[in-house]
Amino acid sequence: MNFNELKLHPLILRAIAEDGYETPTPIQAQAIPALLEGHDLLGSAQTGTGKTAAFALPMINTLAKMPNKGRGKVISGLVLAPTRELALQIKENFDRYDRKTHVKAIAIYGGTSKHNQIVKIKRGVDVLIATPGRLLDLMNMRVVKLDHVQMAVLDEADQMLDMGFIDDVKKIMSALPKERQTMLFSATIPKAIAQLASSLLKNSPARSRPQNQQPLDTIKQEVYMVKREDKKALLTDL
Ligand code: AMP
Repeated sequence: MNFNELKLHPLILRAIAEDGYETPTPIQAQAIPALLEGHDLLGSAQTGTGKTAAFALPMINTLAKMPNKGRGKVISGLVLAPTRELALQIKENFDRYDRKTHVKAIAIYGGTSKHNQIVKIKRGVDVLIATPGRLLDLMNMRVVKLDHVQMAVLDEADQMLDMGFIDDVKKIMSALPKERQTMLFSATIPKAIAQLASSLLKNSPARSRPQNQQPLDTIKQEVYMVKREDKKALLTDL
């Protein structure tokens, strides 16, 4: 399969071709057609398998088809991520894939001042990428309104569970319109995640669980065995 068979907007195809993407990864080949057809999705995938593009490309596709006038006025897409690092990484991916379609993605996360994030949100946003705590904060301050969200992603749901965010996630999801497309990605599917998935996923959810998911060739993985006290020095060195 190649990307041109995936019926994505030509400007998205051009952006990813310039980035050197030739063939969809297994999670992309399974998830993208199902999402373009409007299904919800439960995807088993970890970082390095191309899972970000698997949800970002269909979201950008939907937004790219919307009339320009309506864009940026309301939050149409929401991505929840467990950590600031992941939120920023997802935002960087959006910025690359949507550079020709001009969909506006913003990342908000804790551990930093709210002011700049609030200013950016007020300027207009199509896709909000957020960690749960900061999002709830800004929802309580009525800076963020989620009543027009059409597409919602829970990324690394098992991490959110491990980090104790599950109640926050449920609270956030209950503030979204019932009519929406929902995508849940998780490297593992423990019972609590399966229950969450069955309560959140509706529109004949597709299940994407590619076999033999290898990290992409561009990613090099190595293991270093070091004493705890040497970890920082090794990291700095790397
Ligand atoms: P992810 O698993 O989403 O963190 O993606 C891992 C890395 O693979 C990122 O640097 C992406 O830019 C890259 N990537 C994603 N999909 C493809 C693809 N189909 N072909 C080549 N690289 C890709």
